[in-house]
Amino acid sequence: KIQVSDLHKSFGQNEILKGLTLDVQEQEVLCLIGPSGSGKSTFLRCLNGLESVTSGTVMVNGQRVGDPHVNLNHIRENIGMVFQHFNLFPHLSVLQNVTLGPVQLNGLSRADADARAKKLLAQVGLADKAAAMPHALSGGQQQRVAIARALAMEPEIMLFDEPTSALDPEMVGDVLAVMQQLAESGMTMVVVTHEMGFAKNVADRVAFMDDGIIQELGTPTAVFEHPQNPRTKVFLNKIL
Ligand code: ATP
Ligand code: MG
Repeated sequence: KIQVSDLHKSFGQNEILKGLTLDVQEQEVLCLIGPSGSGKSTFLRCLNGLESVTSGTVMVNGQRVGDPHVNLNHIRENIGMVFQHFNLFPHLSVLQNVTLGPVQLNGLSRADADARAKKLLAQVGLADKAAAMPHALSGGQQQRVAIARALAMEPEIMLFDEPTSALDPEMVGDVLAVMQQLAESGMTMVVVTHEMGFAKNVADRVAFMDDGIIQELGTPTAVFEHPQNPRTKVFLNKIL
């Protein structure tokens, strides 16, 4: 469970998040949409402490991110993150990419980590690619490895930052299908995306962010078909 209250974030004089309040319930899928530069990535990075907050609070499972008494590594292990650019380790095989975290951070034995990784690779449709090197995979396959790598830490929450926007169109569907399956398994997810079809079909709620705050929040039907905020209407008209 994520609870964000009156979150402000500035870079120098430039205030990007201006009092953002938002909760994400356990097992909820929240899709975050909004114009480029509105602070969506910055917001995700505040959730797992990759960015410090200027003021306000971010609580993850009851612990405040940034609290000096709270172990940030512990919070991060509970939050998987998948980026637009998948950043696999190029010199490690697919299997090694997925087992690295569990072995080095969780102290899992090699055998247990391999077993877990193989199960996850099967789950993302890449059972036959365990020995491959990243460069030998398509972008969509690499992104699915990145998802398996994040899941290997057995996080309770997954954050996705435009995971399909760097992919060739024919790769997008496979990655979205893996994400949909994950959503249906009950994972708590925050997904920044321009894939409105995914948001409509998979999200429990959609949040429209602009000018540093959540301008509109509701079910996909409410936000996409009956937007109340004029800014939401303008944004949707541009992208749909
Ligand atoms: P996009 O849809 O293009 O990914 P976004 O909504 O994710 O955009 P952010 O990447 O969060 O937007 O950036 C919001 C603003 O914060 C931008 O104006 C950006 O230049 C600024 N910004 C982000 N990170 C930093 C940083 N480390 N230092 C200074 N400014 C930053
Ligand atoms: Mg971004």
